Amino acid sequence: MIVKHFISWPILTLIDVLIDHFQCNKKQSGAGVSSLPEEDVANREVPASSPPLQQQVLLSACLSCEGCVSEEESLKISQQNLEEVARVLGQNKKCDVTKHQVLVVSVCSQSLPFFAVKFGLDIPEATRKLCGFLKSLGVQYVFDTTLAAGFSILESQREFVQRYRKRNHDNQALPMFTSSCPGWIRYAERVLGSLVTPHICTARSPQQIMGCLVKDYFTKQKKLSPDKLYHIVVAPCFDKKLEAVREEFYNSLLDSRDVDCVLTSGEVFLMMEQMKVSVADLDSVPLDHVLSEAGGQALVRHEGKGSEGFLEHVFKYAATELFGLDVDEITYKTLRNRDFQEVCLERDGEVLLQFASVYGFRNIQTLVHRMRTGHIPYQLVEVLSCPGGCVSGRGQAEGETGGRVDKALVQQMEDAYSSLTVRLPDTNPDLLILYQDWLEGQDSTHANTLLHTQYTQQTPSQTQTHIQW
Ligand code: SF4
Repeated sequence: MIVKHFISWPILTLIDVLIDHFQCNKKQSGAGVSSLPEEDVANREVPASSPPLQQQVLLSACLSCEGCVSEEESLKISQQNLEEVARVLGQNKKCDVTKHQVLVVSVCSQSLPFFAVKFGLDIPEATRKLCGFLKSLGVQYVFDTTLAAGFSILESQREFVQRYRKRNHDNQALPMFTSSCPGWIRYAERVLGSLVTPHICTARSPQQIMGCLVKDYFTKQKKLSPDKLYHIVVAPCFDKKLEAVREEFYNSLLDSRDVDCVLTSGEVFLMMEQMKVSVADLDSVPLDHVLSEAGGQALVRHEGKGSEGFLEHVFKYAATELFGLDVDEITYKTLRNRDFQEVCLERDGEVLLQFASVYGFRNIQTLVHRMRTGHIPYQLVEVLSCPGGCVSGRGQAEGETGGRVDKALVQQMEDAYSSLTVRLPDTNPDLLILYQDWLEGQDSTHANTLLHTQYTQQTPSQTQTHIQW
């Protein structure tokens, strides 16, 4: 079926009906999914007969797939693949040092449980093995994105309290929608428009704050120009590729992006399989740390089941800041299903705060329908486009044959993720150091510039109007 039309509400409804029945042909043909040129990978060999890395992506995986992006975006996304990484690695082996780039990989926290399950190891050891593999390819630094997620959470917390305090004279202050999911952002900007965009938290996502940390802070520490560093993010979904190519994350003077390439966890694992890598034979190498040479810090996670727990963190912070109440445990009330839940803070029978977590496009559509027809009772909604949240991202949670989410795999990943120790970003001394040394303090102009962005309605004239399913 070919639909040539700017995505509109009825079409999204149609798409929803078609969910799980049709596959997105464009993605199957491989945005960011390709085979490695065997001769270019630094220290390892890829068999000459390697089949192309193929992954199937269901329409339900993401409504912001290649089929509904502009040609320019499509071109940029198509450059985010293993071939491109191999090209950079190969270039580093050539004599012309002016073209050499320092390779840095940042692994999303939600990707780590995937490698733990696939390797049959706990997360810390699986992470060391993954780090060993990446460094054997020629990657110089490997980070995880927990620090960046901490910034994103802290900024979201503060923004929520500011919005709450001006709710009576700004009718767009609340509800606040979280901003970490690029699938949701895409849908909000291109389909929902001004009904929703003023309500989206301006805090950058963990991925894009990591981009700033690496291309701004880390390059200064290493006395490198940002264009001399090639930054790869390993992520649980394809949507992150689309986020990385947003204009505001591109430095046109230096022709440098905060994130040069996003690879999904599944793409990295398929590369390992193609290269017949034995996990047992890999060196265990500790992760690097942007703040210190030592590296090897203990892995921690944030609240929640695997999506950085924006709702939980903001809820606890707001309870304390606004009402002087300490909340230890958060009790969810399931509404429509496990992907539509709410949390309330009450005092003497009065509801002080009412937040919701809304995952998956069907639930998002219910939320938006309520918003269109009147009032939703929530002050904050954590919105994620994947049912189940980020651990279920389609770049890592699909079964061997592709298409459908492997529920057993997701359960194993959630179990592995929950085994990590929770650490509140408020108590992370590294964040406090970086606020001072890098950002000139909280609420500084520098912090607002690097940690925030704007989400706005995208009109049809700004977007490609062709959708091909
Ligand atoms: S919810 Fe899904 S699409 Fe959104 S950031 Fe998480 S994994 Fe990616």
